[in-house]
Amino acid sequence: MALIVQKFGGSSVADADKIRNVARIITETYRKGHSVVAVLSAQGDTTDDLIEKAREINPKASKREMDMLLSTGEQISISLCVMAIERMGYQAISLTGWQAGMLTDSAYSAARIKRIRTERIQKELDKKKIVLVAGFQGINKYDDVTTLGRGGSDTSAVALAAALHADLCQIYTDVDGVYTADPRTVRGARKLDEITYDEMLELASLGAQVLHNRSVEMAKRYNVNLEVLSSFSGNPGTQVKEVVKHMEKTHVSGVAKDKNVARIALVGLEDRPGIAFKIFSLLAKENINVDIILQSIGRDGSKDISFTVARDDGQRAREVMEENREVIGCRSVELNDQIAKISIVGAGMAHNAGVACKMFEALYSAGININMISTSEIKVSVLVDERDADRAVQAVHDRFFDEFGNA
Ligand code: ASP
Ligand code: MG
Repeated sequence: MALIVQKFGGSSVADADKIRNVARIITETYRKGHSVVAVLSAQGDTTDDLIEKAREINPKASKREMDMLLSTGEQISISLCVMAIERMGYQAISLTGWQAGMLTDSAYSAARIKRIRTERIQKELDKKKIVLVAGFQGINKYDDVTTLGRGGSDTSAVALAAALHADLCQIYTDVDGVYTADPRTVRGARKLDEITYDEMLELASLGAQVLHNRSVEMAKRYNVNLEVLSSFSGNPGTQVKEVVKHMEKTHVSGVAKDKNVARIALVGLEDRPGIAFKIFSLLAKENINVDIILQSIGRDGSKDISFTVARDDGQRAREVMEENREVIGCRSVELNDQIAKISIVGAGMAHNAGVACKMFEALYSAGININMISTSEIKVSVLVDERDADRAVQAVHDRFFDEFGNA
């Protein structure tokens, strides 16, 4: 008998039929003799709708009240689902974040889980009840409701799995698992049987949108066995874990596309010490996160630095640079927010020039120009024109997955 945490996303609980379907999955697991804690998201677009409602009333609503409002979405899901489970003849109980002992810091709308007091959940499990917990929410030291940031229910589930020492954390969603690329837009995308935490982290942060980034970080830290699977198909999903079978070989696990990118180019900077320091401390002061950074070779006392930021930060980053043009000694500031980042991710590609080369060749064959390149232990990323993004993903995916067939 195992303890299993199951998480169901908004699309999995979108209406009455889907809630009944979730109740069926939960009770089937329970019937096999397992203890089940299920974490639910708000139904369908509920969270977006609530945000819209708030906007109509006060576009500058305080974050505390936003959290109070948004936390209701998940409460609707858990109570309805318990009703469905009870109707099927099983005993279940729904718990809000605070009832479930989810203690967070006080950063409303982006709270971090500090600790989970599991006594209440444990007590209910001891009574042989199925426990449903509202995802995405917690409580801070002022006894106020907090939320964990958009998509936070994954993190709630993984945190609970870690705190309860669960044997498995299953993340149910509307796709069959983690794919080599977005199956909705990329021909030939295949489901992966398994993937490492590190690869998953890269894919999640690169816009693969299967799992919330923080949840994967947490799963890695606490060694939580994760499985991503569909609540509709009944097919086996993707295991996310520390080591996978093909680890030793160089391989590519997936191709990701991220359109949430803007590039700032600082042209004609003075080639002297302290310039990079100045630029990036200005951005840090504004809380603007930087991703890829590129500096050209200095020539005739002048050099260029370009960097990428999230698209929403693009305008602000440009303004900050413009305002400080004198200080950083820069001729012109250029913003391009019509770009996308395409990345290949895979363990063991660190020192393998051949992998990067293959990617560049695929892009060349498709006639796509590369604006910027960056590499790390487990990924190679390029910036391309946004209009070329989908074609770029397809070309790169074809190149790797036709040949290796390693998905
Ligand atoms: N309902 C919240 C959201 O839409 C949390 C979640 O779905 O994980 O962001
Ligand atoms: Mg949602």
